[in-house]
Amino acid sequence: MRRTLAFAALILLLCGSAAGAAQPAPVATQAHSLWDVWPRVRVSPPDPWAMKHRELRAALAALQQRHPGLITLVEEGVSTEGRKIPALRLGQGPTGVLLWSQMHGDEPTATAALLDLLNWLGASPADPAVRQVLSKLTLWIIPMLNPDGAERTQRRNAQEIDINRDALRLASPEGRFLKALRDRVQPVIGYNLHNQNPYLRAGLTGDQVAIALLSVPGDEALTETPGTRRTKQLAVRVGELVETLAPGHVARYDMDYTARAFGDSMTRWGTATLLIETGGWAGSEEAARLVRLNFVALAGSLTALADGSLEAVPAAAYPQIPLNERDALTTLVVRNARLAGGRALPPFPADLAFLVPGAFSGDSPRRREPSLIEVGDLTYLRGLAELDATGLLAVPWPAPAGDWAALRESLDSRRLLTTDEATLLSSIRALGEPALARPGFSGAVLFYRPDSAGALTLEGAVLRGKLAGGKLAATGPGAAASSR
Ligand SMILES: [Zn+2]
Repeated sequence: MRRTLAFAALILLLCGSAAGAAQPAPVATQAHSLWDVWPRVRVSPPDPWAMKHRELRAALAALQQRHPGLITLVEEGVSTEGRKIPALRLGQGPTGVLLWSQMHGDEPTATAALLDLLNWLGASPADPAVRQVLSKLTLWIIPMLNPDGAERTQRRNAQEIDINRDALRLASPEGRFLKALRDRVQPVIGYNLHNQNPYLRAGLTGDQVAIALLSVPGDEALTETPGTRRTKQLAVRVGELVETLAPGHVARYDMDYTARAFGDSMTRWGTATLLIETGGWAGSEEAARLVRLNFVALAGSLTALADGSLEAVPAAAYPQIPLNERDALTTLVVRNARLAGGRALPPFPADLAFLVPGAFSGDSPRRREPSLIEVGDLTYLRGLAELDATGLLAVPWPAPAGDWAALRESLDSRRLLTTDEATLLSSIRALGEPALARPGFSGAVLFYRPDSAGALTLEGAVLRGKLAGGKLAATGPGAAASSR
């Protein structure tokens, strides 16, 4: 949190000093007004992951019909499997900006936000920000670069190539299409739009990262050029906009220069690129709130680029943005249990961490089923939902095919709803390896409360990564999603 606060304080300080020169709305006001306008311009579907190539093309056709003359379909690439990849042009300004989304097929949040951005540009002709964007910029937009991956909800294209590692070899038709468009229109700024693992924190002590930003370098030495200085300013501006709406949820993306990646190559080729990665923001309607946040980030930063206010944004604030922190956040952490982990060992004090993977699978083949990911002292780890299990005895149990009722029934048939510690532990021992609480265990974990006479009563369980039974109440922004 400390680094996040330092970033916010620096922004206030630096922006305060430049405020006299800035004619456009202060960034906080702009963030709120864009946030408020989104429900009126939203055309994106409730679930971005459900939007495939067919739905995208229908949405684009509807937008073209609704706003004649606004959106030009300049060309269509062809994916590995023959799906057409629309590239759009808007505006008549001298500054070319190329935005591409969903080069990773399972990363659709920004694609949805781009549709809303297009509708905002068409539906608000009197808005000075819209007029500036369309008169000062020319936007080139590829909303879904990897339709074959989108169809399968997978990162890679149909060749099983990661398009974002294909910028040099250009073995993928999608990569060749993106490169050819860039070479033809020579945009000075690029927006490379992705989703990242939602279980990252903004620094070691920060919140869940909703938006991570990277001013993508163009060489190994991370040389600052006028272009990368501008993408640092864009990153800072996006950071300010997002901090206003989601304080503590902004980070810098943690990656070194990668020559064969597209963002890095774009910068090297002369299209200085800003990487925007959407993470997680636990709570109700999370997917929609993240699209909304993306819309604010895109509309607000393009406005700053168009109206000239970006020039007053301090690039020096960029390194103050806290870095993505991995392995410090998970779905559910149960603290202070007494765990009888299996192997006939006596119970010991332990925290337990569970992970429920989301729709995004990321850059490595990840376990898709919910599981226990760690046991022991998990002070370093935060759960989007947390349960204090002080006084409870935790034991592993093979997951039933059904839900909580089925689990209760199976325990009832063994007379284990109410029992004593010796009986319970010998029942677990008899199960052997299938009931061993260790990383990767995907069974249930049962929680018993002892009474003063030593009798144990089943209180609830973690079943497929979620609390079941109704008696155990978690806290935190993900608490509602963590019980069933
Ligand atoms: Zn990606």
